[in-house]
Amino acid sequence: MPVEARRVKGNLELKTPLVKASSRLPLPGSRLKRGPDQMEDALEPAKKRTRGLGAVTKVNITRPRGPPLRTAPQTHGQTAVYNSCVTCNSLVLRNQKPAPAAPAAPAPKPAGKKPGKRPAWDLKGQLYDLNEELKRYREKNQALDRDNQQLQEQLKEAQQQAKTLGTECSTLEEELTRVRTQAEQGQQELGHLRAHVSEIEEQLSTKEELLQELQKEQLELQEERRALATRLEEQERRQQALEAALSSSQAEVVCLRQETASQATLLAERGDQLHGLEMERRRLHNQLQELKGNIRVFCRVRPVLAGEPVPSSGFLLFPPGPAGPSDPPTCLSLSRSDDRRATLSGAPAPPTRHDFSFDRVFPPGSRQDEVFEEISMLVQSALDGYPVCIFAYGQTGSGKTFTMEGGPGEDPQLEGLIPRALRHLFSVAQEMNGQGWTYSFVASYVEIYNETVRDLLATGTRKGQGGECEIRRAGPGSEELTVTNARYVPVSCEKEVEALLHLARQNRAVARTAQNERSSRSHSVFQLQISGEHAARGLQCGAPLNLVDLAGSERLDPGLALGPGERDRLRETQAINSSLSTLGLVIMALSNKESHVPYRNSKLTYLLQNSLGGSAKMLMFVNISPLEENVSESLNSLRFASKVNQCVIGTARANKK
Ligand code: ADP
Ligand code: MG
Repeated sequence: MPVEARRVKGNLELKTPLVKASSRLPLPGSRLKRGPDQMEDALEPAKKRTRGLGAVTKVNITRPRGPPLRTAPQTHGQTAVYNSCVTCNSLVLRNQKPAPAAPAAPAPKPAGKKPGKRPAWDLKGQLYDLNEELKRYREKNQALDRDNQQLQEQLKEAQQQAKTLGTECSTLEEELTRVRTQAEQGQQELGHLRAHVSEIEEQLSTKEELLQELQKEQLELQEERRALATRLEEQERRQQALEAALSSSQAEVVCLRQETASQATLLAERGDQLHGLEMERRRLHNQLQELKGNIRVFCRVRPVLAGEPVPSSGFLLFPPGPAGPSDPPTCLSLSRSDDRRATLSGAPAPPTRHDFSFDRVFPPGSRQDEVFEEISMLVQSALDGYPVCIFAYGQTGSGKTFTMEGGPGEDPQLEGLIPRALRHLFSVAQEMNGQGWTYSFVASYVEIYNETVRDLLATGTRKGQGGECEIRRAGPGSEELTVTNARYVPVSCEKEVEALLHLARQNRAVARTAQNERSSRSHSVFQLQISGEHAARGLQCGAPLNLVDLAGSERLDPGLALGPGERDRLRETQAINSSLSTLGLVIMALSNKESHVPYRNSKLTYLLQNSLGGSAKMLMFVNISPLEENVSESLNSLRFASKVNQCVIGTARANKK
């Protein structure tokens, strides 16, 4: 509650008796100036007394008031006297100006003397008393007038004050309304602000959490930064060291570049030198081969197999070479006892000793690798561009196939010349790749049986049957020969060659069922066409390497009766003999430099014509059985081989006998 309002309320409580007093002294003047409420007050004092508080609220009681009306103390008896006097007075004064209504006051008592009732006759005394009383009333009336005047003034002031207070009150009410409105607005605003504050507080707490996280993160980052700074310092130190090393390396690089340039020049020179040396090596190698003989003959005696009769001790002898026992043998002696010849005394003639000399003789214990070592030089010649022909000649069962292809089974020790030669070729070609040479190889494998050529690499429906092939020139005017219907398979590794040899064996096995032991009655020709190229120098070389497993050289026993089967056999044998003798004749003709070389007399010589003669290298293995029972065929083979061995093809043979 405002302070002013409280003050008003407090004053109202105090003022209540005054109002009552005022109501006892109704003033004509004041009655006119009262408001409607005050009028009602006067009319219905009892009624209004209950709500009189509201009517008097506008009276300013803070102002000093006039002296309150004092009523003289009265007693019960006095009041009665006074009342009667008033009644009397009112009658007396009725013609006078009516005094304002005043409450009946006790008549003043004469001081020190109790008024007694005058006798009726004492009119003078009574008059006197009445005059006295009138005088007192007049005085009293004057006092009351003064009081009344004061009260009117007070009332005026109070009314003025009430008016002012009313104005003030309405102003205050307006202000209160305004303040209330403001307060409501303030409340609303406060509500909004509170919501806002709580929102901000929430945000604040979130921000605080975030801040904490950020602070934590900042700490971590600071830690990280310190670590990174340490690392950076380290890196900088290292970088400085590296830069120093780099600058020295750069200087070194410059030196090295200069050195490299001079080395490159040197290398080119060396390359030229190397090439010159390679050409020289080829020339010398070829010269060496020619000095060794373009036709060489090696004799190989197979061991006695299990179950075969052991020959007598002096049957086969291998005398040491000129340099003693360490020298590889080149001679072979075969002793033959002739029962038909007898001495005069009738005692059996001493065995005839037949001595043979070859480029090399391999006794029965010789291993496959030893044999190959001797011919590896020829394989090198093939890579250098010289045609090479290697034959295995001998009777059936003397070890030709063993020498060319290898022993039974997968034993690598028993591998024959063909797989070993191919492996050697591949590895040397690989080495020469470093010198700029690129080699390619194409293989074919055919057999010549009864003067017909068949493909041993045939597959599918042709497998085993081996549709007939023809030997033709590769093109018009070309020297190169090719076998029609035969497969020419490019090879680049041992595995591929093994697969081809396996296929050839299968083809032979199938054919064997149709014709008895045809393999021994036919020539098998493995041909490898070698092509080399030195692209940088624009050089090319190409030559065939021929590995030939000849048909059994045995003759048919003339004493045998000829049945229908034997007749076929005879025809086969004649064909074989014919082709083998043609081979001998061709070699002779080449050796004798005859104008006509009878290549065409057999399919074998016809097929091999480019690998025989000229700069071609030829090697013949003569395979010999160690058995005494085969001595006749062994002698035949050795004689044929000796003839070949005496041949000279190409340049003069220096070391040939
Ligand atoms: P060919 O082909 O001349 O008819 P083979 O090569 O088939 O003769 O040989 C006949 C048999 O003798 C085969 O069982 C073979 O394994 C064996 N043989 C041949 N030469 C040797 C040798 N040097 N060492 C061991 N066994 C051999
Ligand atoms: Mg054979």
